[in-house]
Amino acid sequence: MAGPKTKTTKSKRGFRRSHHQPAGLGYGKCENCGEQKQSHSVCPSCGHYAKRAVIKTEEL
Ligand SMILES: [Zn+2]
Repeated sequence: MAGPKTKTTKSKRGFRRSHHQPAGLGYGKCENCGEQKQSHSVCPSCGHYAKRAVIKTEEL
């Protein structure tokens, strides 16, 4: 029967699938101000991360 001669290892399979994630991920809305921001990073406009003020910005 036709088939691959050798089994694809978990490692090789993982390397191939490393390119499978869809483009455009890594961006979301800020929980505080609703501005678009990069995921897992502090919001550049209000300085919030995980609903907490991390960096002091001018709010006056
Ligand atoms: Zn924000």
